[in-house]
Amino acid sequence: MKPRRIGLLGGTFNPVHLGHLHIAGEVLKGLQLDLILFIPSGIPPHKENRGIPSPRHRMAMLRLAVSGTSQFKPCDVEIKKTGPSYTIDTLEALKVEYSDDDLFFIIGMDAFAQIQSWKEPERLLTLCNFAILSRPGHPFEALPKFGPFLRINRAALRELDRESRSSYRFETPSKTRMHFLSIPPTEVSATEIRALIKAGKETKKRLPQSVMSYIIENKIYNEDNNFEGFKGASE
Ligand code: ATP
Repeated sequence: MKPRRIGLLGGTFNPVHLGHLHIAGEVLKGLQLDLILFIPSGIPPHKENRGIPSPRHRMAMLRLAVSGTSQFKPCDVEIKKTGPSYTIDTLEALKVEYSDDDLFFIIGMDAFAQIQSWKEPERLLTLCNFAILSRPGHPFEALPKFGPFLRINRAALRELDRESRSSYRFETPSKTRMHFLSIPPTEVSATEIRALIKAGKETKKRLPQSVMSYIIENKIYNEDNNFEGFKGASE
């Protein structure tokens, strides 16, 4: 059987929003993926860990958000683990589970710019294919330099920022591929959504309606008992 092309979109999803669905749709089309797994983090090492709704609530919102698209599926690999979730461990587990398939780790430029502070970045970056997507305010050109294990063509990054090209890809020493994709911008962020909800303001254009209803019904951003006082661990 032909290997499936499976995207892995990790995130805090606090909450899942239309920006996530937008990038998933773009990469599904751009890289002809068959399926995208949305992977909410258990204990997110890189965020302000206090005040994050429980994995159960974030997973429930994710299920609602992807319910209309058969190629999008929530994946509980990180939330069912106890202890911190390191991306490298998640990828290794999924490589075993999907050993017949081609995996693509999907990540926005804001997160990718920090990747050298994650656990074992060199090994992580050559473990599977990567799809790195543009995000407003985070130019490709600002990417810190990597060591000799990754030779990124900086001129190609500048061309992506100037939109004189829409994608740039190269092969890593371990024969995985790294795809940089410039996609139509969406300004949506979870940080802004949380602030709007707390201020009682409109979020209609930023969230699926079903997710908004869940947030209201469960008072997700209004009651402290929905939060788990996670304490740090780092990625
Ligand atoms: P927060 O504002 O709380 O940091 P977020 O909106 O960045 O959250 P995450 O769940 O942290 O959402 O994001 C998961 C992944 O989706 C990350 O790789 C992030 O870069 C990417 N992403 C989220 N929103 C966008 C967007 N609008 N454009 C491009 N990438 C995005």
